[in-house]
Amino acid sequence: MEHQCSYDCLIIGAGFAGAVAARELAQRGNQRVLVLEQRSHIGGNAYDCYNDDGVLIHQYGPHIFHTNNQRVYDYLSQFTHWYPYEHKVVGAIHGQYLPIPFNFHSLHMAFPEEQAQQLEQLLTDTYGHGRKVTILELRKSRHPALKALADYVYQNVFAYYTQKQWGTAPEDMDPSVTARVPVLLSQDDRYFQDIYQGMPAEGYTKLFEAMLDHPHITVRTKTDARDHLTIQEQTILLDGVPFSGPVIYTGAVDALFDHVFGRLPYRTLDFSFETYPQTEYQTHGTVNYTVSEAYTRITEFKHLTGQKLEGKTTIAKEYSRAYTGAEGEIPYYAILNPDNLSLYAKYRALAQKIPNLHLLGRLAEYRYYNMDAIVAQALSLSDDLLKEQENKAL
Ligand SMILES: Cc1cc2nc3c(=O)[nH]c(=O)nc-3n(C[C@H](O)[C@H](O)[C@H](O)COP(=O)(O)OP(=O)(O)OC[C@H]3O[C@@H](n4cnc5c(N)ncnc54)[C@H](O)[C@@H]3O)c2cc1C
Repeated sequence: MEHQCSYDCLIIGAGFAGAVAARELAQRGNQRVLVLEQRSHIGGNAYDCYNDDGVLIHQYGPHIFHTNNQRVYDYLSQFTHWYPYEHKVVGAIHGQYLPIPFNFHSLHMAFPEEQAQQLEQLLTDTYGHGRKVTILELRKSRHPALKALADYVYQNVFAYYTQKQWGTAPEDMDPSVTARVPVLLSQDDRYFQDIYQGMPAEGYTKLFEAMLDHPHITVRTKTDARDHLTIQEQTILLDGVPFSGPVIYTGAVDALFDHVFGRLPYRTLDFSFETYPQTEYQTHGTVNYTVSEAYTRITEFKHLTGQKLEGKTTIAKEYSRAYTGAEGEIPYYAILNPDNLSLYAKYRALAQKIPNLHLLGRLAEYRYYNMDAIVAQALSLSDDLLKEQENKAL
C-alpha cells in the first residue's frame, strides 16, 4: 500500500458512516482521506445492484430512507435525487393481509365491526388519537377489552415474528427493541411517519459513488484493515508506520481487538433471492410473516425502487439466526442486553485509550442505527474533528 504519509485521515469501512465522514473531511477539511473497505464494493449494507435478471436489488436487505432531520436530508440530496416512496407493510395473518404497524385499519379487518368501533374509541380515549403505543405498554392495561386486544396483537403480530427475528422471548429483550414495534392509533398505513421518505432515484450505490467521488478521497475495496493496522499500546500503525491522523473505524470493535474479551453477539440474516416471470409478486413492498413460515418477511424490490420492468420481478425471503463469526457471515443486528453492553463497554474502554481512534457506526458502536441517524452521527463527528483541526491551525 502507498506510504501512510500520503494521507491525513484513515477511515475503515465505506458504508454510510465511513463515506459521509470521508466526504466531509476531504471537502470541508481539505484532508487527504484513505478509505479501506473489506468488501468488493462501497455502500456497506445499503449497497444495491442489478441482478442477472436486470432487477435492482438490495444485497443486504431492504433499505428505505426516512428522516425528520433536515440537515441529513439536505446533505444526502447533494448526491442524489429522490424517488418518492412511502413504505407500507402488511402482515400475512391467517389468510388476511393486515397493515403493519397494527393500526385502526388492521383493527377493522381483524375484529367484527361493532367490536372494532368500540376498541377504536377506547384506544383513542385512553391514549389519544395518532399516538404510537408499544405492544408491551398495551399489554399492561387492566381494561379487559384492551387486554384482549393486546393479547391478539401480541400473539398474531409480535410474538412469533420477534421469536424468529431475535431467537429470544420478547420479555427478555431490551425495551429499545420492543419499543420499535408500535400499535398506531390512526388510519395511517405508512410504516414510517417521517417528514422525508424516499429512495435514491438511481439507487444507493450511485449515491455512494457520488459521495466518494472527490479528488482527496482514495477508496481501496477488497482491503481488510486488520491486514494493515496494528495497535501498539496507544499508537496505531499503518503498515508498520505510526499513523497520527484521525482514524475512524466503522467495523466491529471486537474484531479490531482480536476478540480479546470474547465475541460480541449478533444476529445475522440469510437472504433467499427469487426471480419470477411476472410483473408483480405481492401487493406491498414488504409482507411480514407473523404467524407462519420460517422466514420473517418477503420484500419485493420493484415496489421500493419504482423500477418499471414487465414480466420479471425479484423478491427476497429473509431468515434470521445467530451470528457465529464463520467466514462470510455478516453481523447485522447487535443484541442489546446488559451482559452484551457491558462486554461492549470493555472494548470501548480499550478504544478510548487511543487518542486518534474514533468508533463510528452500527458495528463500532454496537447499536442499531437507521441510515439517517448514522449520517447525522458521521456529520457530527466530522464537525468535531474539523473544529479540532481549526484550533490546531490557530
Ligand atoms: C436488514 C437491514 C435492513 C435495514 N433497513 C433499513 C431501512 O430500511 N432504513 C434505514 O434507515 N436503515 C436500515 N438499516 C440500517 C442500515 O443498514 C444502517 O444504518 C447502516 O448500514 C449503517 O451504516 P454503517 O456505515 O454504520 O455500517 P455498514 O453499512 O455495515 O458499513 C460498515 C462497513 O465497514 C466495512 N468493514 C468492517 N470491518 C472492516 C475491516 N476490518 N476492514 C475494512 N472494512 C471493514 C464493512 O464491510 C461495511 O462495508 C437496515 C439494516 C439492516 C441490517
